[in-house]
Amino acid sequence: NILNDFLDMKGNIRVFCRIRPMTLGENLGLLTPVVALNSNNVLLRIAESKNKSYSFDRVFQPGSSQDEVFSEVEPVIKSVIDGYNACIFAYGQTGTGKTFTMEGTPDAPGIVPRAIKALFKQATDSNRAFLISFSMLEIYMGNLKDLLVPKPTKPTDPMPPCLSIQTDLEGGIEIDNLVAIQVNDFNQALRLYRLGCRFRSTASTNSNINSSRSHCLIRIAVTCFDAPERRREANKLWLVDLGGSERVLKTKAWGKRLDEGKAINLSLSALGDVIYALQRKRRHIPYRNSKLTQVLKDSLGDDSKTLMLVHVSPREEDLCETICSLNFATRVK
Ligand code: ADP
Ligand code: MG
Repeated sequence: NILNDFLDMKGNIRVFCRIRPMTLGENLGLLTPVVALNSNNVLLRIAESKNKSYSFDRVFQPGSSQDEVFSEVEPVIKSVIDGYNACIFAYGQTGTGKTFTMEGTPDAPGIVPRAIKALFKQATDSNRAFLISFSMLEIYMGNLKDLLVPKPTKPTDPMPPCLSIQTDLEGGIEIDNLVAIQVNDFNQALRLYRLGCRFRSTASTNSNINSSRSHCLIRIAVTCFDAPERRREANKLWLVDLGGSERVLKTKAWGKRLDEGKAINLSLSALGDVIYALQRKRRHIPYRNSKLTQVLKDSLGDDSKTLMLVHVSPREEDLCETICSLNFATRVK
């Protein structure tokens, strides 16, 4: 049973790798430096006869379908109904398919719509009473923005304030005033998701480059009513489309772009450090080093399930970034 495997035997953190297919206009047919050897191993051809292999809990070939990916993700969704918190991350350089994996397209829906559908189905099938709520926020330059609070329509109106994080005495965290809207079915949740996407600070031109400068986080909170009182706390499922992992200091970015890139790079390495410390069962887990890890504190570690989907490009010219992403993946494994 895959679920029990996940829950009991092999620890709580899984790392998958997905290789993007070549798109039209990219050198179709040319040799790619990244090859999926089998469902667990990737081979990287770094230079003439210099190969390196990396292993993962699962590798998705360029031809893998959204169905295949979701079938490996579904046990995590199931664990939320069973009382766990979970985080699913899409990591990788800009253009490697993070948003494709999380959001997908109308023809090939990704993890977000499928997870919502699966949650409602499992909640219904379980014959227990659940309350499900939806929240969505963005972390941009270290600031938290609620994506379900509309931006002002007139330029003279004030922007809604940034969200702040409160820590209680037990070390628990609360995001002050984060909007959480109760949803009764799949379509309601999907409508909120679409609305949230429209409010992203980087949505103005809607280009991939812009959305890469912020992290987008969806929180689905599931409360079970017939659980014993002490367990009647919401379980949280976080679905996170991370900012692009490309190393900004190696690019020609300057000014605002450079600052945005640095903020993303710092928070991604803070996330890596937290998962690394959790994997080694360190006493001190450095959650405080970024807003991203603070927000996710109570859903990263302890009993929580974490799924890291590392995306890589098939292109020769992206080899350096691919090596960095595979190294990140290896470190958090
Ligand atoms: P990212 O969010 O990491 O910047 P995108 O998800 O926007 O990358 O992907 C870049 C482009 O590649 C998009 O046009 C997307 O549709 C396409 N793409 C990415 N992954 C796949 C895939 N597995 N199959 C087909 N097309 C993909
Ligand atoms: Mg994207």
